[in-house]
Amino acid sequence: MPELPEVESIARGLRAQIEGARIEAVRCALPDLLAEGAECLGERVQGHTIRAIQRHGKYLFLLLGGGLGVALHLGMTGQLLLVPRAAPADRHTHLEILLARRSRKLAYRDVRKFGRMSLLESGPEGLIRRKRLGPDALLIEARQLHGALQRTRRSIKACLLDQRVIAGLGNIYTDEVLFRRGLHPACPAAALAPAEVSGLLRTTRAVLRAAIERNGTTISDYVNARGEKGRYQQKLLVYDRKGKPCRRCGTPIARAWIAGRGTYFCPSCQKGQD
Ligand SMILES: [Zn+2]
Repeated sequence: MPELPEVESIARGLRAQIEGARIEAVRCALPDLLAEGAECLGERVQGHTIRAIQRHGKYLFLLLGGGLGVALHLGMTGQLLLVPRAAPADRHTHLEILLARRSRKLAYRDVRKFGRMSLLESGPEGLIRRKRLGPDALLIEARQLHGALQRTRRSIKACLLDQRVIAGLGNIYTDEVLFRRGLHPACPAAALAPAEVSGLLRTTRAVLRAAIERNGTTISDYVNARGEKGRYQQKLLVYDRKGKPCRRCGTPIARAWIAGRGTYFCPSCQKGQD
């Protein structure tokens, strides 16, 4: 599933290409893609200019001015691509945004169809409030995160995955960050001292930035707006490495069900479970 680095890579690829473009028409072949109340999305955004492309957590926003815009969550397998205007839509392309006087159009592909698009009427802030999203993982302050972790009895992995605590992390980057900090994913979040939370956040940002530099991680479907796969999968230390030797100590990497997700960790290097 696309996480913060993948969505940021898509946003960066689109900024240079479609900021300033005017939306000529929206074609939607899958009404379920549009969140409730967004049936009129095409009519409302038609004729407006894309002024900015922003991201919060795993959400991407096309901002049109006056609070109007389009929010997109890629779900499991969503792809937002810039393709030649004349390119035919395949059976997984559910929505197209035609751009006036541009040789390319935006195409939304989604094999598993868990992605959702919605109309923004009061900017990204309205959606962030409605979805109760926490601060973005690249912007959250250590004391904010420490405060949130103090108020729960959940594991550190469950908290990092919770978009209301910190927005942007999913299963891959959470496992990578916890391995690099030597923290067991089932460790109680409230047990972390302020200095440990600061360190955790430093590592989180370093991992996310390195992944953005490499255009994200492609395990299955993710590609950026130009259709290119990510290259961070070559840098993964634990994710998807069950049974392979830990890159630090040689112990086989374990996979266990933690916080409702298949979780990879090194049983020797990662401590802190009660
Ligand atoms: Zn190890």
